[in-house]
Amino acid sequence: MKPSSLKVGIDVPWVTSWTGELSLGAGPCPSVGGALAILQADHAGRGKPLYSQNHAVRQRLSVRDMRCPMCGEPTAADDRWTQVAHPVAAGRLRADGRGGRLPADLADESILIDAGSIAPLHKACVDRSLRYCPHLKADPHIDVRRFPDRWVILPLTARAEAAPQLFLARPVPARTAEVIGFLQLCGLTSDRDPAWRDVSR
Ligand SMILES: [Zn+2]
Repeated sequence: MKPSSLKVGIDVPWVTSWTGELSLGAGPCPSVGGALAILQADHAGRGKPLYSQNHAVRQRLSVRDMRCPMCGEPTAADDRWTQVAHPVAAGRLRADGRGGRLPADLADESILIDAGSIAPLHKACVDRSLRYCPHLKADPHIDVRRFPDRWVILPLTARAEAAPQLFLARPVPARTAEVIGFLQLCGLTSDRDPAWRDVSR
């Protein structure tokens, strides 16, 4: 597959997946401390960019290491910005079954900034992407704000069939294993919403 004339981190976000990057199934991944995770070949710039698809491993690295998904460089603590901030109460995440990894001492009424799978960007990269990306420009949900100083990372997992052990003398019953896909990032704020249970809000 030919290298693209588009530059990774300049014309195409660093975290974006390319058609030349095949999925490699599940396996232990250093991006999550060796836990089972979705693996993907690392050939950014080969083939065509898949703008709506994050690369499995780069996505996890961007959240784990606070690397800007646009340029791929680390963001400094005083230069972390989110474009799609969804305030959500910790209790709401727990009620939806997504809060299992939240710190136990975090009150249900604590407001988190759910950044989804998107690590914070440099301010300069936010400005550049808003200027050049037609999707972002037209998106009414764009809400640029500072990312909080503290955060939690929630691995999004799926059950997957474990590799069959074909060469054992005795057949092994089929097993499934927990496999990490993307890492979800939630900033911790000092805001509270005591009425978070009120579904009409
Ligand atoms: Zn950047």
